[in-house]
Amino acid sequence: MNIVMNTQRYAQMIDGKATAQKVLEEIKIEVVGLKAAGIEPCLAVVLVGDDPASHVYVRNKVEKALFVGIRSLEYRMSAETAQEVLLQKIDELNADAAVHGILVQLPLPDHIDETAVLQRINPMKDVDGFHSENVGGLSQGRDVLTPCTPTGCIRLLKDTLGNDLSGLHAVVVGRSNIVGKPMAALLLKESCTVTIVHSRTQNIQEICKTADILVAAVGKPKMIDASYLKPDAVVIDVGINRIQENGKNRLVGDVDYEDALTVALAITPVPGGVGPMTIAYLMKNTLEAARMQAKQI
Ligand code: NDP
Repeated sequence: MNIVMNTQRYAQMIDGKATAQKVLEEIKIEVVGLKAAGIEPCLAVVLVGDDPASHVYVRNKVEKALFVGIRSLEYRMSAETAQEVLLQKIDELNADAAVHGILVQLPLPDHIDETAVLQRINPMKDVDGFHSENVGGLSQGRDVLTPCTPTGCIRLLKDTLGNDLSGLHAVVVGRSNIVGKPMAALLLKESCTVTIVHSRTQNIQEICKTADILVAAVGKPKMIDASYLKPDAVVIDVGINRIQENGKNRLVGDVDYEDALTVALAITPVPGGVGPMTIAYLMKNTLEAARMQAKQI
């Protein structure tokens, strides 16, 4: 973790890029062990359509898989692909014992029912953790594949605060299925006292000010400033927002980083905070999926 100095106090920058690299190095060693036992972890990535951002994400995922020694398979399908054809591809991958993880890159074209597609993936191969079997398992506190972004956030919190997060008040801003809700469930599993706030919540600022841990997953540039923070709160900024500032394109989070530094104990930057952890935990989930499937044989 780096120390960032400002005029009023010291706050810690939670370096997600460095932690993600550490996680990838750990995975690399574990992959060697699995391969020695005759299992080659394999991730299949399915990309439908021409969304440029999705192409970049998929390329990054494939690169990281290569780095840690996980075999990757890429299936690119045209934007006009019929839902039935995509479902058939998933059935094929479900049936292939050499494939341990299946990731369908979102968003899908409008004519495809996202839920139907995600539900078709074998829960044991669901490395995104979006299948209802895994969502339900997480809410029951079972050991299942959990969504990569919030799982990466828990690692950052533990690296910052220590392994025991119990009793801390965590406020999650946002209640989406991919970030807010699983984040809250994972924090509850760590025995935090959890509050979720969202667009209909009243007195958000007052509630946030009671948080020992604040996770922002809203999609609103710099919405959370120092006035939302309890002194010495640990802030995890999941937001990725593209804005124009001084005539330049910039990526910013949901938290006003410079302002939050004056109050927080530690905070993730954007970029270089949560983003790299998401891909690292996709690799981790692929490894876990391969282990789980090996136990079933
Ligand atoms: P969604 O748009 O699905 O959800 C946003 C949530 O924020 C909703 O629950 C919404 O409430 C809530 N919200 C919106 N406005 C307000 C407000 N003014 N006050 C309080 N709550 C509000 O977004 P995602 O969860 O998918 O993503 C959130 C952010 O995280 C985005 O910037 C996204 O790009 C980023 N992201 C980053 C990832 C990473 O790897 N770093 C991965 C995934 C997402 P309601 O439900 O009431 O509408």
